[in-house]
Amino acid sequence: MNSSGPEQLTDGFGRVHRDLRISVTDRCNFRCSYCMPAEGLDWLPRSDVLSYEEITRIARICVERFGFDGVRLTGGEPTLRADLPVLIEQLSALNVDLSLTTNGTTLRRLAPALVTAGLSRINISCDSLRADRFATVTRRDELAKVLDGIDAAIKAGLAPIKLNVVAMRGVNEDELVDFAEFGRTKGIVVRFIEFMPLDAQGDWTNEQVLTQDEIVAAINAVHPLEPLAERGNAPAERWKYRDGGGEIGVIASVTHAFCDSCDRVRLTADGMLRHCLFATRELDLRTLLRSDATDDDIADAIRAEVGAKWAGHQINQVHFIRPSRSMSQIGG
Ligand code: SAM
Ligand code: SF4
Repeated sequence: MNSSGPEQLTDGFGRVHRDLRISVTDRCNFRCSYCMPAEGLDWLPRSDVLSYEEITRIARICVERFGFDGVRLTGGEPTLRADLPVLIEQLSALNVDLSLTTNGTTLRRLAPALVTAGLSRINISCDSLRADRFATVTRRDELAKVLDGIDAAIKAGLAPIKLNVVAMRGVNEDELVDFAEFGRTKGIVVRFIEFMPLDAQGDWTNEQVLTQDEIVAAINAVHPLEPLAERGNAPAERWKYRDGGGEIGVIASVTHAFCDSCDRVRLTADGMLRHCLFATRELDLRTLLRSDATDDDIADAIRAEVGAKWAGHQINQVHFIRPSRSMSQIGG
């Protein structure tokens, strides 16, 4: 740090990075068809997974050296990791905007402890409000548990609560308005995510992507919407209901890529730094952490990796290469 504050972590395109996504585990209790195969994946050996102290050290370096102001925990299913509130407590001491993305199944039990540890907001994923369809998509018959988890998060005072819905043609396109109404009733922000080519099976096709334009048109026809201010660095484009009933967001990675405003880097559960969700290279921070590397050494390595960040993914172009790891292994 110098007298004018922390250094900016800038890449070759002038983008400043301030947001760290941390995967705390690659394991999951669901097998969402757009993410994992039915039989699961080969889990990382436990010795490869970063300890909470190692995770907190990387986050602290990003905050102290590079002025990061946002940290999100994800996975796999992050709440499967033992003693997650301990990590939340360590990270909340960094005074950043701390959030968590979860499938919601453990929130009835965990939400109060997460809040006590310092979590203030949360994203919960749910792709269907119909029990049979939910069971088909996630390969687990647990919609009731997720809905109960949403209520537990509301009761625990987490706010805002964002509901992540992967919108897929032929899967849940007839539920867009149901989700909008669910969000309006519960007072939560529904965020539709375009299906991305990050499923482990490699079955993604462009035809399955329900587009931002289609999603907004379908909801607007029933509950009129108007666009909210520019999204800045956030991935979601936002609309509010004209009648004051709240807002929706759409993360349109495929049809309206937002790479030119990206401020994110990712840390995988096994300690690899990725400068993009779709990156085809990784920086091995675990080996550095487990050597006698100083904070300066680690900061230098992060600076070099982010300096080499590409302009963006090229989904739908001939140059696009799928990353070798899938969504749950990277951390969405
Ligand atoms: N297990 C947690 C959950 O489901 O919320 C956290 C990890 S999950 C990988 C993070 C987010 O990525 C979820 O909202 C999930 O729906 C989304 N996701 C997973 N695979 C995706 C894909 N192929 N395209 C778009 N979103 C995806
Ligand atoms: Fe698990 Fe989340 Fe992937 Fe579903 S999307 S399989 S809940 S990691």
